[in-house]
Amino acid sequence: MTTQLLSTTEHDLERAAELIKSGGLVAIPTETVYGLGANGLDPEAVKKIFLAKGRPQDNPLILHIHDAAQLHDFCREVPETALRLAEAFWPGPLTMILPVREIVPKTTTAGLDTVGVRCPDNDATRKIIRLAGVPIAAPSANTSGKPSTTTAAHVLHDMDGKIDAIVDGGPCRVGVESTIVDLTGPVPRLLRPGGIGPERLEALLGALEIDRAVTGEIARDAVVRAPGMKYKHYAPAAEVLIVEGSSEAAARWVRERFAPGDAVLCFREELPLYEGLNPTAYGLETDPISLSAGLFAALRRLDDGAVKRIFARCPTGGGVNVATRNRLRKSAGFRTVNAEEAAP
Ligand code: AMP
Ligand code: MG
Repeated sequence: MTTQLLSTTEHDLERAAELIKSGGLVAIPTETVYGLGANGLDPEAVKKIFLAKGRPQDNPLILHIHDAAQLHDFCREVPETALRLAEAFWPGPLTMILPVREIVPKTTTAGLDTVGVRCPDNDATRKIIRLAGVPIAAPSANTSGKPSTTTAAHVLHDMDGKIDAIVDGGPCRVGVESTIVDLTGPVPRLLRPGGIGPERLEALLGALEIDRAVTGEIARDAVVRAPGMKYKHYAPAAEVLIVEGSSEAAARWVRERFAPGDAVLCFREELPLYEGLNPTAYGLETDPISLSAGLFAALRRLDDGAVKRIFARCPTGGGVNVATRNRLRKSAGFRTVNAEEAAP
């Protein structure tokens, strides 16, 4: 199959919508990461997503809608909290888990009786959804296990010849996947940190439980509420090791161990500390959204076969840094050292 490259002109968005309507696969730009989209109501089309990505079948997809009013079309119950969250954060990087209506096939929800729904903050993609007249089921548009895609070029790299088209909407603004909040229990529960920081959810909801999957390592056979959280994720071919501690202590620690095949992934402010080691910066420590926006692109840049080990610096604190930290820790398989405590 030849993968068409589409732009965001009216004509090309209509073409993308036609492809979705006729059961095809189209990569769509969103503010978080690129999505690999298909008609979320068509099980045959949705199956193709799992095949193209090599995605395990028990990993449900998120339904993308163009308007909060569509919540009722696909969710059996829409609590008042869902409406408040939609009002505050949609269109935007927030996915809500709600009881699913029968119209949504089991292939989309991986057999769960709930569904993840989100209204993305991207005009082109919302227009495609509207023109197609169906919700678009879409996971991130990367080969399963690899870092998510944040440019059309990344998508082409992973999906060329496997999907019908890619809509190039430029680089993604947030760069990490949506925040997922489960609204089916007595207390809202954060299943995955993302573009909306947990503090903002808590401020609006009053109470928010944090799922174990957000902070800790999950065993492969564990029963988890967000099935995607248990898989190895966002991982380049090289081994990633997070080096914690002050900038200076970390640089000293890395310099003592740096060997051929090693690479440094750091904050832009730290570049001078790694002079001579060809460091890669993924954003500014003082600008959290630059870190989330740059993380996956940087991991992909370092995924070239020559790099065997990556020493990575990880942001602390709240907001979108919670998501950046979560993705980086997963790409590192939770391997972390503290340069200030480590033996000299
Ligand atoms: P991706 O779009 O690749 O980030 O994958 C979507 C993720 O959303 C999945 O890996 C799940 O963790 C989560 N998700 C989607 N639907 C549900 C659901 N009904 N219940 C819990 N988590 C879900
Ligand atoms: Mg993904």
